[in-house]
Amino acid sequence: MSSVQTAVPDGAIAIVGGGIGGVSLAIGLRHRALGPNAISALELLDPAAAEVFHKLATKNAFSSEEATWINFRKGMGEAELIAKVETKDERQTGLSSIHRARFLNALASLIPRDMVRFRKRLVKIQETEGKHVLLHFDDSSQVSAAYVVGCDGIRSCVRQYVLGLENPLDNVTYTRKYVYRGLVPMKTAVERLGAELASNSQMYLGPNGHVLTYPIDGGKTMNVVAFRDDLNNKSWSHANWVLKHRGDNMRREFEGWGRPVTTIVKMLEQPDQWALFNHEPAPCYQKGPVVLLGDAAHATTPHQGAGAGQAVEDALFLAELLGKAKSHGWGFMNAFKVYDAVRRPRSQLVVATSRTAGDTYAMRGLAGSDSDLLQAELLHRFDWIWEYNIRGALDDAIARLQGEAAGKPAIGLLRKLLKELRMRLQTGLVSEDRRLFGGWSFSWHKS
Ligand SMILES: Cc1cc2nc3c(=O)[nH]c(=O)nc-3n(C[C@H](O)[C@H](O)[C@H](O)COP(=O)(O)OP(=O)(O)OC[C@H]3O[C@@H](n4cnc5c(N)ncnc54)[C@H](O)[C@@H]3O)c2cc1C
Repeated sequence: MSSVQTAVPDGAIAIVGGGIGGVSLAIGLRHRALGPNAISALELLDPAAAEVFHKLATKNAFSSEEATWINFRKGMGEAELIAKVETKDERQTGLSSIHRARFLNALASLIPRDMVRFRKRLVKIQETEGKHVLLHFDDSSQVSAAYVVGCDGIRSCVRQYVLGLENPLDNVTYTRKYVYRGLVPMKTAVERLGAELASNSQMYLGPNGHVLTYPIDGGKTMNVVAFRDDLNNKSWSHANWVLKHRGDNMRREFEGWGRPVTTIVKMLEQPDQWALFNHEPAPCYQKGPVVLLGDAAHATTPHQGAGAGQAVEDALFLAELLGKAKSHGWGFMNAFKVYDAVRRPRSQLVVATSRTAGDTYAMRGLAGSDSDLLQAELLHRFDWIWEYNIRGALDDAIARLQGEAAGKPAIGLLRKLLKELRMRLQTGLVSEDRRLFGGWSFSWHKS
C-alpha cells in the first residue's frame, strides 16, 4: 500500500484514541461551557454531555438507595452490613451505571463528523526537523501534526513515545488480581437473593476477594464482578487479558463464602475472566508537543470506579487550558506544561489509592477483617475523589498558565490567591472550599 500523508490544520490538535478520554476532549475543545453552579467535570465540559450521562444511567432500584454508592457487606455468613457509602452531591449520584458503548456513541454524536477519522491505528510517532511530529498509522497513512494528545488507553503507543519505552507494556503491572464478570437477569436475581440485595448496589468483602453487584440496563439485569487475589503469581501468564470460562473455577474459589455470595456465583454460567493491570507512575505526561490523557497517562484498577472520571477531568483541564491559551495567546506548549503539572499528582494518587482499596476489600488492608475499622475507613476513603473543588483547581491552573506565559510561573497563582483573599475578607467568606462537587464516579458495564 502506498503511503498517504495529510496534515492536521494549523493550530488544531490531533487526538489519538476514541474512548471516554478522547471523545470528552474532542467535545471540550469544540464547545466550552463554564457554569458557576456546575457540579461535575462533565457538566463543566459540556452540559449536553452531562445530559447524555444522566439520561442513560441506571441507578439503584429503591428510592431510599438513590444516593448509595455501595453497601459494603460481610462476604461470609448472611451479608451483614459493614458500611453504607453514599455520595453527598445534590444530584444524589450514588451508583450510576452506564453502558459503555451506548454512552460513547451518544457522546460521539456531539462531535461533528468531519472532525473524526475512524479505523486508524497509530503505530509510531516520529519527530521531524520542523515543529511537527509525524503520526504513522497501520494503513500506511501518515499525518503531520503540531500538537498531539494520546488518549489511546492502557497499551498506549503515544505513552511509549512520551516515556521512551521499548514496548508499550514495559510500564504496565499485573496487580495480582483478576475478576470474573457476568450478567444475571434481574428477575432471576430477585427470586434468589431478594429485591433489596439484587436491585441495589452491594459489595461483599471476604478473605482475598470481593464480589460487586449492581443493576444495569434500566434495572433489567444484575451485573456481577467477582474479584480474586492471585497472590501466587507475580505475572499474568496468558497472552490474552480476558479469558472465557465455564464458571467451575470461580465457584471453587468462592466455596465456603456466605449464602448470598455462593448464590451469586452459582447464577453466573459462563463468566469472562479479566486480569487487572495498572500503570507505574509516569515521570511526566508530556514530551514536547505530545501529551497523554486518561488511561494512556494513568491506567488504574477499577476498585474506586474512578478511572473514567479521571479521564474526563483530564479532558476538562486540557480543554480549558488550551481554550485559554488560544484566546489569550498564552501558547499551547505552556498549556501542556501546566496540564502535566496539575493533573499528574491527583491522577496518580487515584491509581495508588485504588490498589490499596482493592486490598481493603480483600481484608488485606490496615483494617484487616475488623468491621468497625473497615466501616471507619470505607465511610471516608472516597471523599477526596468525589468532593474535589474542581472549579477552584481549574482557576488555579489558569492562573498558573497566565504566570507561565508571562515567564513568571509563580506570579499568576499568587495574583489569584491575593484576589481570593481580598474577596474573602470583603465578604466574610472564610472557608467554602467544598462548595463545588467536582469528582464524579460511575460504573462501566459492557454487556
Ligand atoms: C474491568 C474494568 C472495570 C472498570 N470499571 C470502571 C468503572 O466502573 N468506573 C470507571 O470510572 N472506570 C472503570 N474502569 C476504568 C475505565 O474503563 C477507564 O479508566 C476508561 O475507559 C479510560 O478511558 P480512556 O479513553 O482513557 O481509554 P480507553 O477507554 O481504553 O480508550 C482508548 C481508545 O483508544 C483506542 N486505541 C488504542 N490504541 C490505539 C492506537 N494505537 N491508535 C488509535 N487508537 C487506539 C482504543 O480503541 C480506544 O477507543 C474499569 C476498567 C476495567 C479494566
